[in-house]
Amino acid sequence: MAAQKPCPICGKPPTAASRPFCSERCRDVDLNRWLSGSYAIPASDTEADDDEELLPPSAPGARRSS
Ligand SMILES: [Zn+2]
Repeated sequence: MAAQKPCPICGKPPTAASRPFCSERCRDVDLNRWLSGSYAIPASDTEADDDEELLPPSAPGARRSS
């Protein structure tokens, strides 16, 4: 067989049960990296919410001047 890639977490040879990791523990470490990294990706939804929240406070002031 072709050379298997080592465990991306610790570099040990991967096991069939936890490929491509050497153990479930290393698979967990990689999963946590993905989860913590994904928090920074979906930003478009949050930006839209922030824009809307800036509008209401200006309404009372604009009404007073007219
Ligand atoms: Zn490992």
